[in-house]
Amino acid sequence: MGWWFRIPLWQRVIAALILGIITGFAWGPEAASIKWIGDFFIRAVKMLVVPLIFFSLVSGVAAIGDLRKLGKVGGRAMLLFVVTGQIAVWLGLMLGSFVQPGIGVDTSAIQRGAIPEPSATSWTDMVLSIVPESPVQVMADVQVLPLIVFALLIGIGILMAKEEGTPVAKIFDSGAVIMQKVTMIVMELTPFGVFALMAWVAGVLGLDALQSLAKLVALNYVGCLLIILVMYSAMIRFLAKVPVVGFYRGMIDAMAVSYSTASSNATLPVTLRCTQRNLGVSPSVSSFVVSLGATINMNGTAMYLGLATLFGAQIFGVDLSWADYIMISVTATLGAIGAAGIPGAGLIMMALVFGSVGVPLETIAFVAGVDRIMDMMRTTTNVTGDAAVAVTVASMTGELNVEELVSADDV
Ligand code: ASP
Repeated sequence: MGWWFRIPLWQRVIAALILGIITGFAWGPEAASIKWIGDFFIRAVKMLVVPLIFFSLVSGVAAIGDLRKLGKVGGRAMLLFVVTGQIAVWLGLMLGSFVQPGIGVDTSAIQRGAIPEPSATSWTDMVLSIVPESPVQVMADVQVLPLIVFALLIGIGILMAKEEGTPVAKIFDSGAVIMQKVTMIVMELTPFGVFALMAWVAGVLGLDALQSLAKLVALNYVGCLLIILVMYSAMIRFLAKVPVVGFYRGMIDAMAVSYSTASSNATLPVTLRCTQRNLGVSPSVSSFVVSLGATINMNGTAMYLGLATLFGAQIFGVDLSWADYIMISVTATLGAIGAAGIPGAGLIMMALVFGSVGVPLETIAFVAGVDRIMDMMRTTTNVTGDAAVAVTVASMTGELNVEELVSADDV
């Protein structure tokens, strides 16, 4: 068994991803029979989400030391989330209007999927859902955003209590370290989980299903890759001022896990580990920015919502004005913020954007069949964006250990 552990984890994960795809295509729909191995892995990672956020966020906030610095970190992160989100939506709109993926699509050739329940979330619902009515309930339901709010408040309370808060701060510090060790154990399941999930997607979807919507799927990939390779690279190089290659090398595990699980939430423990251990972001900044980002910073989703709206308008012949474009940019940004970090969340949010500019909701049924394959790429973009913002904010506030990032060889 020694040889297995001598291979760096990220190499085992990449090999599993490729082998999974090959196995899926060769095996066909039957590959679904091993999906349970992937679910086993997802359950194990999900198990970590609540205790990991709780312990590391509280200990992180307490470690930041003063409230002014906390505001500085939070303010910068929010600014970066909003700016990158806007660029992403407009990129989606641009790709959609130049390439026009919906023109000439034979809708009868597309398998109709079910239209998911449109989300009935209103503005006020969204604001209210941030407040944890019962912290225990929030933990039991794995509601990440209110959990973050609660953990932040406890952290702030510890800071305000000064000396008297120290014993509790120590407990959280120790809990955070323990949770990191537990994450390490669970991460050893990654190659198996990734293999099974990839075999399942490739086997069940097959290449045929993709053909009729090939342009949309391809554009989704192009848009996401542009966001990752151009926007994030520029951010890492010019704002964070650290080597771009080191960043991606350190993030491989999280990118592979996000791609195969299509869930930012389920990837969260891995993203935290990558940003802290491989990218040298201090535990306080990474747990704060990455946890928050996993629910509200979704640039892949924002880009896709813009793109898909144009796609729907094109297949149904809806004319869109400039005012509509602005409306899409606003609702897509809200949709991306409101979307939970779970598979298919972007699909549900489409109803919000489509409804605002009169694009028929049937579009959702047309794209539902191939959503998963696009979701995987969106999620990778979302997760990479969280880490890019974490590295940038850490670098701006002196919370980045660059040596660690550069020497991330043995990850
Ligand atoms: N699955 C995505 C995520 O977890 C959200 C989406 O569907 O776009 O980040």
